[in-house]
Amino acid sequence: MVTIERALLSVSDKSGLVELGQALAARGVELVSTGGTAKALRDAGLMVKDVSDLTGFPEMMDGRVKTLHPMVHGGLLAVRDNPEHAAAMEAHAIGAIDLVVVNLYPFEATVAKGASRDEIIENIDIGGPSMVRSAAKNHQFVTIVTDPADYAALAAELETAGGATTLEFRKAMAAKAFSATAAYDSMISQWFAFADQGQLLPDLLCLNGRKSAELRYGENPHQQAALYLPVGPHAKGIAQAQQVQGKELSYNNYNDADAALELCGEFAGGDPAVVIVKHANPCGVAQASTLLAAWEAALQCDSVSAFGGIVAVNVPLDGPTAEAICQIFTEVVVAPAADEAARAAFAKKKNLRLLITGDLPDPRRPGLMVKPITGGLLVQSRDNGTISQADLKVVTKRAPTEQELKDCLFAWTIARHVKSNAIVYARDGATAGIGAGQMNRRDSSRIAAMKAAEAAETYGWAQARTVGSAVASDAFFPFADGLLSAAEAGATAIIQPGGSMRDNEVIQAADEAGLAMVFTGMRHFRH
Ligand code: 5GP
Repeated sequence: MVTIERALLSVSDKSGLVELGQALAARGVELVSTGGTAKALRDAGLMVKDVSDLTGFPEMMDGRVKTLHPMVHGGLLAVRDNPEHAAAMEAHAIGAIDLVVVNLYPFEATVAKGASRDEIIENIDIGGPSMVRSAAKNHQFVTIVTDPADYAALAAELETAGGATTLEFRKAMAAKAFSATAAYDSMISQWFAFADQGQLLPDLLCLNGRKSAELRYGENPHQQAALYLPVGPHAKGIAQAQQVQGKELSYNNYNDADAALELCGEFAGGDPAVVIVKHANPCGVAQASTLLAAWEAALQCDSVSAFGGIVAVNVPLDGPTAEAICQIFTEVVVAPAADEAARAAFAKKKNLRLLITGDLPDPRRPGLMVKPITGGLLVQSRDNGTISQADLKVVTKRAPTEQELKDCLFAWTIARHVKSNAIVYARDGATAGIGAGQMNRRDSSRIAAMKAAEAAETYGWAQARTVGSAVASDAFFPFADGLLSAAEAGATAIIQPGGSMRDNEVIQAADEAGLAMVFTGMRHFRH
C-alpha cells in the first residue's frame, strides 16, 4: 500500500478532471499541475501548486519544457526504500510524487483535422510521455493514470484502500500506460513514414491497434481472438460497421463479411449487386436492374454453398430482397443501409447478423497487407491494381462480342476476390460457376463447370449457364488444358493475364475452339 500524498496532474483532455481533483483534495492530497490543468482546477476552487514552483523554472518555449526536470522526475523515479535514492532526494530537496494523472497532446486528432505540418509537430508531446514512463516504471511506489475512463476506478481504489492504491492496481495502470505511450509513438512514427515521407514500406511497421472487442474464439474454438482497431487514420470497413441485430459476430463472420464487403465495393455506384460469400470466397455474384433479381441470380450460381453464407449488397436493402434472403439460412447480411421493410423482415430471424456499413470501401485505396510467417512478417501493398477496357489485348482471331466483353470484365472483377487458382464463369451479369483455391487451374475450371451443371439440374434449365459464358482466370493458363475444360463447359470468351511460356499454344487452342480471348497484362493472385 502506498498512501497518496502528492499528485501531479497534467492533462490535455480535461474531462473528469475537476471531479478527480475534488476527490483527491477531499483526501488531503496536495495537487501539483501544469498551466492549463492548474487553471482548470483553480477555476473550480481547488488549491493547486504550479509545477514551475516545484522546478524553479517557468514553463517555457511554448510549453515544450514544463515538467522535464529532476524535481519532477526524481520525485517520480526514486526507489523509496533505496537508501542512496532517499539520500539523493534529501540532498536535493526532491519531494516524492505518488500519483501522476497525464494524458497526452492530441496528436491523432491534430492529424485527423488536417492541421499544418508545424501544428502536427507541435502536438508531439514530450514531457507527458516522459512522466508517464517514469511513473509507470516506478509502479512499485507510484500510481499512473492515463485515461479519464479510469478516474472512477482510481477514486474507488482510494476509497477502499484508505487513501492508498494496491500494487495490483498500480501494475494494471502501468501496463495501460505503456500501451498508451507505445500507441502514441507508433502514431507519430507512422505519420512520419507514410504521411510526411511518403514511404510505402516503412523501416518500422507499427501494428498497434486498440482492442475493440473480445471475440468468443478464433477460427476454431480452442483459439483466442479479438478485434483491434488500428491507431491513427485508416479506411472504414467491416470493423466499423453498425450491427443492427443478431448474434455476436465471430472471428469467421468478420473474415467472411470483410471478403464480401471488399468485393461489393467493386460495384459501388453501379447497378444493384449481390455477393454471397462462403469461407472468404464468393459462391455467387450478380448485378441486375433490381436487387431482388441480383439476389436470385447470385443464389442460382451455387445454392448449395450459399447455405450459411454471408451476403453483401451495394445499395440500400429493400424489403422484398430481405424477405428473399430470409428464405435460406444466412449468417450475416452486410449493406450500406437498410430500409424499414428490410429491417422488419430480418427482425424475424433473431440470429441473423445485420451490418450497416454506410459508404462502401474503395477497392483501389492504398494500404498494406501483412501476413505472419515463422520468424517474420511478409508485407506487401494491397492489390489495388486495375485495368480498363483500353488495356485489353485481343489475342485470338475472333474478337469478343460486346456482351462477351461485358461478361469478361464482370468475371475478371470477381476473379481477383477468389482464392487462387481462381476460375470464374459469368454470363449476363451473373456468375455461372466459381472454382477457387485449387492447386491447379484445370481443377478450378472443372469444379466451376460442375457447379454450373448442378445448378442447371437444380433449377431445371436446359443447359448450364456456362454455355455461352465468359471465363476469367486470375493468372495465365500454363497449358491449354484449363482453357479447353472451360471451352468444354461452353465458355465462348476468355479473359486472363497472359504471359505464359506457352501462350502461343494456348492461343492456338482457343482459335481452334473458336473462342475469343483477351489478355489483361495484370495478374491477381490471392493466396
Ligand atoms: P496544460 O493544459 O496543463 O498546460 O498541459 C497539459 C499537457 O502538457 C499534457 O498533455 C502533458 O502531457 C503535457 N506536458 C506536460 N509536461 C510537458 C513538457 O515538459 N513538455 C511538453 N511538450 N508537454 C508537456
